[in-house]
Amino acid sequence: MLLLFTINIISSAQQNIKPNNSKGKEMNIKVQKTDREWKESLTPEQYQILREKGTERPFTGKYWNFDEKGIYRCAACGQVLFDSDTKFDAGCGWPSFSDVVNNKNVILKDDYSLGMHRIEVMCSNCGGHLGHVFDDGPKPTGQRFCINSASIEFEKKKDDVHK
Ligand SMILES: [Zn+2]
Repeated sequence: MLLLFTINIISSAQQNIKPNNSKGKEMNIKVQKTDREWKESLTPEQYQILREKGTERPFTGKYWNFDEKGIYRCAACGQVLFDSDTKFDAGCGWPSFSDVVNNKNVILKDDYSLGMHRIEVMCSNCGGHLGHVFDDGPKPTGQRFCINSASIEFEKKKDDVHK
């Protein structure tokens, strides 16, 4: 009986091991709102993408073909996420970045939806869905953060912008 119990513990522990654990971080979301509150503070499109993990159609967002200098904040909570210095044209129809301003500002999570494995990018402050990150980006990071325009808000660069 004791042996059986021990085996059960071992097998359930193994099921909890995630192969990509280094890319997933513990969620510690500071901004918590109800669905109703989010619906009130976001546009319907922003809500569908940020809260329901939707994806805007390529070549339709406001930032895929946009190259002004500045920073991009989370459209839901205002946390700084990306810098225009790392923005590049990936030709995919979504704004693409080779890096984040600070790794702590995003959560990278395994996503097995649509029958494939991707890494989802979320805002670490509010849990909002931003897009996905792929490993076919330019050097030196080799990363391509493929982000929905609706999830981010551009702000022109000022000298005193605090990152
Ligand atoms: Zn956010």
